[in-house]
Amino acid sequence: MKTDIKSLTLNQLNNEINKLNLPSFRAKQIYNWLHKVGCTTFDQMTNLSKDLRDKLEENYYISYCQIENKYVSKIDGTVKYLFKLNDGEYIESVVMKYKYGYTICVSSQVGCKMGCTFCASTLAGFKRNLTAGEIESQIHAAQNDLGVRISHIVMMGIGEPLDNFDNVILFLNNVNNENGLNISMRNITISTCGIVDKIYDLMNLDLQLTLTISLHAPNNDIRSKTMPVNNKYPIEEVIKACREYARVTGRRVSFEYTLIKGVNDSRENALELCERLKGLLCHVNLIPVNDVKERGNVCSSKADIQKFLNVLKSNSINATIRRTLGSDINASCGQLRYLKKRGDADENCC
Ligand code: SAH
Repeated sequence: MKTDIKSLTLNQLNNEINKLNLPSFRAKQIYNWLHKVGCTTFDQMTNLSKDLRDKLEENYYISYCQIENKYVSKIDGTVKYLFKLNDGEYIESVVMKYKYGYTICVSSQVGCKMGCTFCASTLAGFKRNLTAGEIESQIHAAQNDLGVRISHIVMMGIGEPLDNFDNVILFLNNVNNENGLNISMRNITISTCGIVDKIYDLMNLDLQLTLTISLHAPNNDIRSKTMPVNNKYPIEEVIKACREYARVTGRRVSFEYTLIKGVNDSRENALELCERLKGLLCHVNLIPVNDVKERGNVCSSKADIQKFLNVLKSNSINATIRRTLGSDINASCGQLRYLKKRGDADENCC
């Protein structure tokens, strides 16, 4: 079995290069090709001799993302990719343009085990974790295709990042490296459904990234109905971990709250949420639920979303309504992989 050379840190790559009896400056060169340029074959590393490239080829492989389908929103230019991995599995990424630059939403697993009832990512089942190299390759594939520099990352694609903790940390280490993509931790967001033990592990690393919690409910009754993870880690424990996280790292925690008509969008729900978050350094993102056909959830009305927002604001909770991007291209992650698995064509593909 060959090793994925893209899933090594610079230190680890140095050790490998020593084992092959090569001078250590080669490690930095190879690292550059892999992480700055995003090479997908050793032959693209043109300042390495043919002998060395052959030697690398014998011992390692490079994980990559091949563009299977690409979708461009006619409304806002959002681009969504269905990527094929080395082993034939599929994942999705979305690139969005904001005033401050390009943001990519990356997947962390092939499928998801968490089973949230509104989400498409579980529909096609859980297959495996992504390697650090595969998570990063989504950025290289998109950047090289679009010819732009991506400056921000959100881990909100398919999968639960904290359920693939070690590979995600390795990925962060590499994208943050100045010899690689050199993306600041402050431009990176990790979104979790609330795996409390791992929130503490992340806190102890004291990275300057943004932690986002998919909360979606003000209490255990509602949360457990839509998010099975809540049975293991009830809402009180999630919020307690967030308070600790904000205290130790000094970083504001974000909450995602997807509004579903008649489920979690009443005035009482909003008031209970305020009570829950009182005194916590945080920001709430209200998200009109994306109606995934198979999930059957109905989005709250615009007026109800606005009322919900007003309750939060009048209780001094920082909150905004998330702008919906890519609504014409199934931009919620999980939907393309599911369609592909069912063998259905997608008419928006270009
Ligand atoms: N597993 C991680 C990250 C992936 S989901 C997490 O749970 O945070 C990224 C975000 O999209 C989460 O907040 C998720 O709850 C939300 N989401 C999933 N399906 C959605 C839908 N149909 N409409 C709106 N938001 C959705």
